[in-house]
Amino acid sequence: MPMKKESKNEVPQAIKGMRDLLGKEYYAYQGFFEKAAEIATYYGFKPIETPIIEETRLYTSGIGETTDIVGKEMYEIKSKGSAQLALRPEYTAGVLRAYIENGMQSYSQPVMLYYFGNCYRHERPQKGRFREFRQFGLEVLGTEKSIADAIVIKVTTTILEESGHKNLSLQINSIGDKICRNNYRRELVNYYKRHVGSVCKDCKIRVKNNPLRLLDCKDPKCAPTKEAAPQSVAYLCDACKQHFKEVLEYLENLKIEYTINPSLVRGLDYYTRTVFEIISKTEPAEVKETNANQKSDAPDAPKTDDKRKPVGLALAGGGRYDYLAKAIGNKKDVPGVGVAIGVDRVVLSESFNEDLVPRILKRPKVFFIQLGFPAKLHSLAIIEILRKAKVPLLQSLSKDSLGTQLSTAEKLKIPYTIILGQKEVIDRTVIVRNMDNRSQEEIQVDKLADYVKKLK
Ligand code: AMP
Repeated sequence: MPMKKESKNEVPQAIKGMRDLLGKEYYAYQGFFEKAAEIATYYGFKPIETPIIEETRLYTSGIGETTDIVGKEMYEIKSKGSAQLALRPEYTAGVLRAYIENGMQSYSQPVMLYYFGNCYRHERPQKGRFREFRQFGLEVLGTEKSIADAIVIKVTTTILEESGHKNLSLQINSIGDKICRNNYRRELVNYYKRHVGSVCKDCKIRVKNNPLRLLDCKDPKCAPTKEAAPQSVAYLCDACKQHFKEVLEYLENLKIEYTINPSLVRGLDYYTRTVFEIISKTEPAEVKETNANQKSDAPDAPKTDDKRKPVGLALAGGGRYDYLAKAIGNKKDVPGVGVAIGVDRVVLSESFNEDLVPRILKRPKVFFIQLGFPAKLHSLAIIEILRKAKVPLLQSLSKDSLGTQLSTAEKLKIPYTIILGQKEVIDRTVIVRNMDNRSQEEIQVDKLADYVKKLK
């Protein structure tokens, strides 16, 4: 694609990987949010909103400096103050900060929260991958119990299913706690050191910096080494084994099918025990480049690699993070488990359930028509009467001709019109017209609300 020349006179455009939400698409996001929030509320979750900007150290110490999200993708902000700030790349660290800062440790535990909002990652934009994207997420804080993991997974699958996504695959794994995870990590490093000649150059660095990420590598060159690598479940201590077993038992009881995926570790440092991802089997997988971030300003067209099998698009991911609180500086650990749903992926998919419309969007019952300046002058008062009576309506107040306004109402198949002309203003009446049989009736303004409400 030829590079576009910048001109001083051109209006700036939305920046790469970010876009405006409007019209039907806006309503689809809002409809999704209302449904997701309703389901979460039934299961006992309460809403939280945290600031989009946080101190950078929340993410460097919480998520980890060697992760892609923090090391390569985080938007750091130049501000007037001295604090180092960043746009949130994800929510969990901020929600946990809010839990600690607001003294939620003293609430009855666990504290169950849901959130919805924008996240920012400087990634290579492509299908299903943006630089500004939206997440709906759940966090259960203050309990280690396996039922919390089960609730998070259950609510997530319900939200995805009710949003139209039926063909889902839940991939799950356990990476253990402090002790067994370290034993496992040691074994993994020893194994990769023995096979260092057959892995890609990123993996050579991962062996030193972030060995669990070795299992995330998508480079086909590393696939055979990865497949034969030691698996974390084999190193779980008794307590972690029991925890994982219970989570799986809950899933079986809830009839949620799962696949244990031994190479699922997820990208962030903070995960312990349960990690999971929910994949749409009907959506083609995104093409994630291993070196995507160094080339983030390269042309947009994604490169495909035929050797890479499409595994389906990840709609949600989550897990347990029992040591995150200490990592961000809290004196005590706060056990927790959560999930983030990629809302853009859910809503922009062909499977999205079009019936999820926001509650404020009602099918209009009347179209309001005004003729002449005195009628225009009174029109907002009539609309207010109808609004108070909760009668859904449309209007085109800036139009003057009866014909134009009537034909708009006809085109939109609105069953009734209310016509206000100069005579009606003087008489304090309006004309109510049935658009189907074209019958009309003159109604006193003070009787209008009751009259319209009774119309079928
Ligand atoms: P993560 O926080 O990376 O575990 O992501 C959770 C979910 O958010 C993923 O499963 C995706 O559905 C979605 N997601 C992550 N990154 C992006 C992105 N750059 N653009 C759109 N959706 C994303």
